[in-house]
Amino acid sequence: MRKDRLIESLRNYVSERVVEAVSRVPRELFVPEELRAMAYEDRPLPIGYGQTISAPHMVAIMCDLLDLHEGMKVLEVGGGCGYHAAVMAELVGPSGQVYSVERIPELVEMARRNLESAGYRNVSMILGDGTLGYKEQAPYDRISVAASAPDIPEPLKEQLRPGGRMVIPVGSYSQDLLVVTKNHEIRVERAMGVIFVPLIGEYGFKDAFW
Ligand code: SAH
Repeated sequence: MRKDRLIESLRNYVSERVVEAVSRVPRELFVPEELRAMAYEDRPLPIGYGQTISAPHMVAIMCDLLDLHEGMKVLEVGGGCGYHAAVMAELVGPSGQVYSVERIPELVEMARRNLESAGYRNVSMILGDGTLGYKEQAPYDRISVAASAPDIPEPLKEQLRPGGRMVIPVGSYSQDLLVVTKNHEIRVERAMGVIFVPLIGEYGFKDAFW
């Protein structure tokens, strides 16, 4: 698919601001070299180690639900190849910052290389178990989780700033994308059904579910 056709199709799902952010990120720099010809197909692609880069429409929908603004501090759990982090970096701008935790060391390295070659300076890739969040920079205005959890991890609820918002897929064979808002209490709304790889860690699954 040509990039302009993909971008046009995203207009059916999300706000213009998110469409523009997606259009500024060179997805071909984030997919494995042998799959570059498919970089603008609207589908997930394998990035190695049993993991995938999410489909562009899914990244766009999650960014839209997250309601990202200039200057925000964002935590991503499940950084993968760094693509989703790059789209969020566009939306928070140079005055904002994205901290992205990934548990597979080779993917952290890959994401760092990809983000550097695409010129993103406001994303920090961190190796670790993202179900624990990343205490060092908490609290966060927004949290985006890119792998499906058995339940919303307690540390992520704690590290969300009051007034903050989180998007997170929950479930195994059947998964729901949840929008979590934190005010005096935690409110949870279901946005849609989704399919993600498992979130594996202390507050996640103990092993892959497929
Ligand atoms: N946002 C990514 C999508 C990656 S897929 C992108 O744009 O490419 C989900 C990622 O979550 C995988 O790379 C997987 O290794 C990672 N993951 C799973 N459990 C995790 C955990 N507990 N902490 C951090 N990363 C985790």
